[in-house]
Amino acid sequence: MIPANSDQDVEIAIVGAGIAGIAVAYYLCVKHKRRSVLLIDSRQPMSYTSAQSGDNYRNWWPHRTMVDFINDSIDEMDRLAQDSNNIFHMSRAGYVLTTRQIDVANIVDAIAGDIDVGVINGRNAIRAQYPYLSAEINNVIHIRRGGDISGQQLGQYLLGKLRAVGGKRMQGQVTSIHNGARYCLEVTTRGGVRSVDAAIVVNAAGPFVNVISRMLGVELPVTNIYQQKIAFEDQLKAVPRDMPFCIDLDAKQLGWTAEEKSLLAEDKELDWLTAELPPGTHCRPDGGPHGKWVKLGWAYNNRVSEARDELADEPAIDSFFPEIVMRGAAAFIPGLLPYVASPPVRYSHYGGYYTMTDENWPLIGPLDNNAAFVVAALSGFGSMAACAAGKLCAAHICGGDLPSYAGNLSMARLTNKALMVELAATSNKGLL
Ligand SMILES: Cc1cc2nc3c(=O)[nH]c(=O)nc-3n(C[C@H](O)[C@H](O)[C@H](O)COP(=O)(O)OP(=O)(O)OC[C@H]3O[C@@H](n4cnc5c(N)ncnc54)[C@H](O)[C@@H]3O)c2cc1C
Repeated sequence: MIPANSDQDVEIAIVGAGIAGIAVAYYLCVKHKRRSVLLIDSRQPMSYTSAQSGDNYRNWWPHRTMVDFINDSIDEMDRLAQDSNNIFHMSRAGYVLTTRQIDVANIVDAIAGDIDVGVINGRNAIRAQYPYLSAEINNVIHIRRGGDISGQQLGQYLLGKLRAVGGKRMQGQVTSIHNGARYCLEVTTRGGVRSVDAAIVVNAAGPFVNVISRMLGVELPVTNIYQQKIAFEDQLKAVPRDMPFCIDLDAKQLGWTAEEKSLLAEDKELDWLTAELPPGTHCRPDGGPHGKWVKLGWAYNNRVSEARDELADEPAIDSFFPEIVMRGAAAFIPGLLPYVASPPVRYSHYGGYYTMTDENWPLIGPLDNNAAFVVAALSGFGSMAACAAGKLCAAHICGGDLPSYAGNLSMARLTNKALMVELAATSNKGLL
């Protein structure tokens, strides 16, 4: 990218160079051939929430709108993988959903749309195909259109394509936006305060989306919820390198001894650990067939926070998470049990914000009645959704063809009472 170090006059300024902002810029520059696009970020591209992603993708969603949206994104990623000789390591091992439930009709029926699913039931059949799963698992649902990518490589690939057609980047913090005949953004850079004049502004500020929206006079119905992961070196080879992304669909207790349980119950800060925790513990090998690392996650936190500049300063990063997620994962992948008593020697514990609406759908499209747009609230699905989100936002900006789900994912849905009531009544929001 050409570093911009003087005041700028551009057609489109995008605030945020995470995967969402980069994808918008890519579709504007490469598909719509816009030549005056500036990506502004106070950090290095892809270094905030987008650096924390588990990088998994799936077309398994409880509502047709999200199925169609993510299917489009997977189509785009397939195309980009083909064009780039799969530089971002897109795999297609699927999602393996596991449950102790005997009857899974309710789970299968809740899968929206025509998606490719296989169900394996019975402990023997499951043991034959997935020997690493707990003997308590009675059903496995295999979502075939899923897998993982390297989000960082995808972001870098899109940035490279932008650079090739003249897309620009500016490193600096947007501190105010003045809305006159055009937008005037004040940007604090290392070299001093710059101003950027733009006909169109795109708000792709991730967890700071409301900070930027307020500068434009709009308050969005989004919150930030901090979620954590661990990655560890699997010295015990508990997780086979070809294991697909596996998820435990059952809520569970953490398997404390009676003594541990009564100690935890006495502590007001920790007594929640003795209660049942929500479904969704997940595990997959990381780093390919010859790697040694494994990733575990569990989005059980539901406390809303203010986004912080440094993710590691987030008070919700709880020191118990590595043990909690290991216990949760060992409950369906028993090979991990030894790590509960004797934790992995080398591991990293990290996290970031799920920036979400209550219905867990993104907001993509016009932000106001002027020339401001938003692409945000990408929750725990922004890496997989980025391509369709960027394509959709660029189509809104350039007046391109909009897909059938465009209205549902835009601010327009907030005034669609019937839809909002329907979504509010749905307990399954597709959150993982
Ligand atoms: C623990 C965890 C696991 C996840 N796992 C997955 C997964 O498996 N699959 C999946 O698809 N998704 C996953 N996600 C979600 C995904 O990571 C996010 O949805 C996605 O990264 C959001 O991208 P973004 O570009 O909107 O935000 P960000 O990456 O946060 O980018 C926003 C950018 O805006 C910049 N910015 C903000 N304010 C300003 C300002 N005033 N001036 C200049 N720049 C500004 C920031 O510096 C930042 O770089 C996960 C998220 C977390 C936290």
